Amino acid sequence: MRQLAAGNWKMNGVTASLSEVEVLKQHLKARPANCDVMICPPATLVMALAEAAAGSPIQVGGQNCHAKASGAHTGDVSAQMLADAGATAVIVGHSERRADHGETNEQVRAKAEAAHAAGLTAIICLGETLKQREAGETLAVVHDQLQHSLPTDSTGANTIIAYEPVWAIGTGLTPTPAQVGEVHQALRGALSALVGPEAAHAIRILYGGSVKPDNADELMGVGDVDGALVGGASLKAADFAKIIAAF
Ligand code: PEP
Repeated sequence: MRQLAAGNWKMNGVTASLSEVEVLKQHLKARPANCDVMICPPATLVMALAEAAAGSPIQVGGQNCHAKASGAHTGDVSAQMLADAGATAVIVGHSERRADHGETNEQVRAKAEAAHAAGLTAIICLGETLKQREAGETLAVVHDQLQHSLPTDSTGANTIIAYEPVWAIGTGLTPTPAQVGEVHQALRGALSALVGPEAAHAIRILYGGSVKPDNADELMGVGDVDGALVGGASLKAADFAKIIAAF
């Protein structure tokens, strides 16, 4: 299946940062990507980034959404609003939201269901902490997160999984290719049991956590890795373009 390079800008970026989109467009013109490309900016930039990316292969995603379509939820953004602003996907259950806002698997599933209802692809994030890895709990933890965060109607068209070990996010540390492969293979098997082999085969499983230009080639070559969710290295178009070129 076609891999995906998705950039997560997190709480970074103002209007001036759209110049990075222009630079990325030039890179992609000079060297067309062998993968799908997406940027998930802060909600304030979704519409402007969608406009800046128009006519290019760059897709736009949100970083979070509320589980409801509308209502009295001051400060929140719904999946429908992101879709209206030009997003085609939304990240749900990023470990920073699970940690900062205490989001549970059940809440993440409700958000993913809201994304589906709004016609967005839900990028469902999961991953173990260092303590859990050291305790040998990684596979059990990610299986539990998948089982309880994944809507039952998930297909390759509306769902992407992002395996992001918490200890690898923003730290410069990465699991070995064998460790990544072990988790992705286990997730594929778990998906098969949850939504059937056909959907499991079509749902992309991204790796995320300190993906950089110098390790992208190795990580993207691992079996069952269908792309990358890239944080820090997606902020500069030159770095993100190098990662994309490694696909
Ligand atoms: C992320 O935020 O999803 C991420 C993987 O961050 P980084 O690439 O900076 O580790």
